[in-house]
Amino acid sequence: MNREKVVVLTGAGVSAESGIKTFRDAGGLWEGHDVMEVASPEGWRKDKELVLDFYNQRRRQLKEVEPNDAHFALKDLELKYKVVVVTQNIDNLHERGGSSKVVHLHGELNKVRSTVDPSLIYEWNDDLNLGDKCEKGSQLRPHIVWFGEAVPMMDRALLEIASAQHVIIIGTSMQVYPAAGLVGYAPRNASIYYVDPRPSINAELSIRDNLEVFAENAGTGVRKVVEILLK
Ligand code: NAD
Repeated sequence: MNREKVVVLTGAGVSAESGIKTFRDAGGLWEGHDVMEVASPEGWRKDKELVLDFYNQRRRQLKEVEPNDAHFALKDLELKYKVVVVTQNIDNLHERGGSSKVVHLHGELNKVRSTVDPSLIYEWNDDLNLGDKCEKGSQLRPHIVWFGEAVPMMDRALLEIASAQHVIIIGTSMQVYPAAGLVGYAPRNASIYYVDPRPSINAELSIRDNLEVFAENAGTGVRKVVEILLK
């Protein structure tokens, strides 16, 4: 059977009801930090301990939270469609909610990598400390795409969205590029659903005729979209 494809683009808002704070809702701070301190190469050069501690806290928090109804609803879509989730999130709640294909544009909290050889990536579920080294002897860093760094998974995400019949956008302020521009690569006739209590219609969305906006929380809005698609 040739199944239609749904590409789901998610941001911090899909994890909000699991208890993980979004970033812009907290006045541009990420858990009380200026993002440039904890999510940029400059911040890393300036204070590695602060950066490691920030991601250690995020990694610990991940053990205490659970996927919410939005994550679970996306799993149900796989009954009828090929589904690829392209997330800006670094948490693993989509995987734990049952989604089988997840592309992490901005990296993953539960991975770390070498600072001399970016191909050396390791699973990492506990704290990462100064002195933890890769097999080539260099300090390990979080496997996160920081502001100003290249987004290696972008090519894969572009390929996926270019062949989608349906796109669901959830909980993103559509401000962080290149992720926010991805929807522009969906075919002209793709149906687009956008779930966010405070949707922001960026340039790519403003020219789409077949856009349906659900101005509500992910927990309720995603279920509605899934029901429409499963009908
Ligand atoms: P953002 O913080 O810029 O925007 C969050 C969006 O979520 C807003 O549009 C807001 O209206 C919406 N939102 C808030 N509560 C919601 C709910 N209950 N249901 C649905 N939507 C809700 O987030 P962004 O656009 O993803 O960009 C921020 C960057 O920060 C991303 O690159 C991401 O990597 C990073 N980040 C990740 C996490 C995470 O991994 N969970 C958390 C915070 C920030």
